[in-house]
Amino acid sequence: MVLPTQVSARNILVLAPHTDDAELGCGAFIAKQIESGANVVVAAFSVAEQSLPGDFAKDTLAHEFHASMDVLEIPHDNRIIYRFPVRQFPTHRQELLEVLVGMKRDMKPDLVLVPSSSDIHQDHQVICSESQRAFKEQSLYGYELPWNQLSTNSRIFAPLDRKYMERKWEALQQYRSQLHLNRSYFTREMVFGLAKIRGVQIGEEYAEAFEPLRVRI
Ligand SMILES: [Zn+2]
Repeated sequence: MVLPTQVSARNILVLAPHTDDAELGCGAFIAKQIESGANVVVAAFSVAEQSLPGDFAKDTLAHEFHASMDVLEIPHDNRIIYRFPVRQFPTHRQELLEVLVGMKRDMKPDLVLVPSSSDIHQDHQVICSESQRAFKEQSLYGYELPWNQLSTNSRIFAPLDRKYMERKWEALQQYRSQLHLNRSYFTREMVFGLAKIRGVQIGEEYAEAFEPLRVRI
């Protein structure tokens, strides 16, 4: 199934367990939706203070998140940062569910984007599974972070022009504390390579792909 160019969802909520997950998983799709006039809210649940290299200030990732959101042109009022402790989401499951239910009530999104159900990071798993409980009235798509997945079930494809990929890459460049770690997935080659594979699957130059967790039509 290919997502129409003008996706019908105008009110999109993107849930990022940690800052940078949203950009890595669907940054180009976000850029495309913003340009088409959609209302996009991005919520990050942890600024991962505990896992930053020692020479960075504790709020580094919050600053980097805002810089990245500036690139994607997400309005300030549409950025939410929570400070749940990284790698400990399973012990905050109920609290997280209540936050998600509050978001649904306040924002009434049409489409919610979360990590996919095959993501093995414990924080990502909690956001995915609790979102399935909280957002029963919404379409729920799982974005890809393949380094955390042993398999994928991505069957929804968003075709993307190169300009949206460049915007995604520019947004990711704002995470200087992460680039500095030389992570294999945080490279231009990886970001464009995955989008190229997904594009080839649907006869387009680039695409981001999503798992259909719940699709309302
Ligand atoms: Zn993460």
